[in-house]
Amino acid sequence: MKAVFVRGPGDLAVMERDPPSPGPGEALVRIVAAGICASDVGVIEGFNPIAVYPLTPGHECVGVVEAAPDDAPVRRGDRVTVYPSVGCGACPACLAGRYNHCPTFKVIGISRDGGIFAERVVVPVAQLLPVPAGLGELESALIEPTAVAVHVNRRAAAAPGGRVVVIGTGVIGTLVAQVARAYDAADIVVVDRLESRRAFLAGLGFDRFVRANDGPLGQGIRRHLEAADVVFDCVCANATLDAALDLLTPGGKLVMVASPHGEHRLELPFAKVYRRELSLIASRNYVPDDFREAMRLMAEGRVEVGPLITGVWPLAEFAAAYADLKAYPDRHLKVLLRP
Ligand SMILES: [Zn+2]
Ligand SMILES: [Zn+2]
Repeated sequence: MKAVFVRGPGDLAVMERDPPSPGPGEALVRIVAAGICASDVGVIEGFNPIAVYPLTPGHECVGVVEAAPDDAPVRRGDRVTVYPSVGCGACPACLAGRYNHCPTFKVIGISRDGGIFAERVVVPVAQLLPVPAGLGELESALIEPTAVAVHVNRRAAAAPGGRVVVIGTGVIGTLVAQVARAYDAADIVVVDRLESRRAFLAGLGFDRFVRANDGPLGQGIRRHLEAADVVFDCVCANATLDAALDLLTPGGKLVMVASPHGEHRLELPFAKVYRRELSLIASRNYVPDDFREAMRLMAEGRVEVGPLITGVWPLAEFAAAYADLKAYPDRHLKVLLRP
C-alpha cells in the first residue's frame, strides 16, 4: 500500500509499505481523508522536538474500520477518527482519562510510527472514536484540530459574554475563535499578519480584524476593544505576549495556544501580571471528550470547518501538496490528502 515515509528530517517520499496487520486490541482502518498539520511540518522539517524517525507521519484523519476484534466498541464499516495521543494506560493521568498529562504519552505519526498518511493504518481500538453520519467526509478530517480548539476554550473556561482576542488565525486560531463564539463570547477580535485572512475571517462572521504588522499590536486591537477578558495567543512570541498582557482586564486570562520549539523562552513583564492578577494558562493537545465535543459543535453547524479546506490532493502526490502548502501560506489553511 502507499504511505508517506520520512526517513529523517527533510527526507520524505511516498512509497510502498507492507499493509499493516492488526494485533490483539487493534483495528485496521482504511483512511478516507487526512489533514496536514503544523506539527507534521515540524516532523518533516526536523524541528518537532518529540519526533522519532523513520516514520509515517500524520494524525488528523477520518477513516472506515475494515477489521476489529469482536469485543471492540467499533466494527467493520464504522466511520471513525483517531485520538492520536497514546497514554501508558497505568499512570494516575491515564487512569483519570487525561492522556495529555501522561509522562510517557506518544502521538501517532509524531513520536510513534504508524501515522495516517497511508492507505491503511493499524490503531489500538481504544484510540478510535465513531464519527456521526451527519458530518461531511472531508470535514471529518478536521475533527482533530477542532478538538484542539475545544480544549483551548475549555482551559480558558471563559464566562459567557466575554471580550476575546485571538492572535494568530491559522487553522487552530480560526477554530479557537469559532469555538469561543459557540461558547457565547460577545466580542471577538482576530489578529493575523496575513492580509488575506481579513476577507476569509469576515466570511466566517469575524469582521473585527487587526493586521499584526500595521503598527503597534495593542493599539490596533484597542480600536475594536477597550480591554479583553481572554486572549488566546496562538503565536506566543514576546511581542504578542506583551500586547496580550496590556490588553487584559483585571482578573483576565492569557491562554498560550502555540507549541514551543526547542528552548522557546518568553519574557514575562511580571508587574503587569501581578497588578491585574492575570492568569496564564497553557493548553496542550486534548482529551478524548474534546473530540466528542468537537463533533457535536461541527454537527450543529456552530463550527464550520469546510471553508478551512484549501486543497485536496491524492495521497500519491503528497510531496506536491506539501510543497504548495509551504510555498503559499497566505493561500492555505488545511490541506487534505485522499488515499
Ligand atoms: Zn494536528
Ligand atoms: Zn500514562
